[in-house]
Amino acid sequence: MTTEQDDPHGALGVREFQRRIEAIYLERDAARGALGTFAWFVEEVGELSRAVRRREGANLREEFGDCFAWLASLASIMGVDLAEAAAKYAHGCPRCRATPCACPGPTA
Ligand SMILES: [Zn+2]
Repeated sequence: MTTEQDDPHGALGVREFQRRIEAIYLERDAARGALGTFAWFVEEVGELSRAVRRREGANLREEFGDCFAWLASLASIMGVDLAEAAAKYAHGCPRCRATPCACPGPTA
């Protein structure tokens, strides 16, 4: 597992990140409730959308981080462990089981 000690950027694993966000925000976010916190998550996705559309290099990383934080907090409120949720992709595409995905589908 990657830890802050061996990563110069202080990168956290998914579970560690969710626990950190819980420590920072869960009390306040839980008091706001799932729907209110979901609204904040969507607001952040809107900011990410603008950053992607404008190709705002420096701001992109910021907005991805904010979206991930709000997603993690919402998952915690709903009792979902993000690392467990992400595990559905651990062995490839959940539908066809291939890596890369071999499902027929839209390309755009
Ligand atoms: Zn697939």
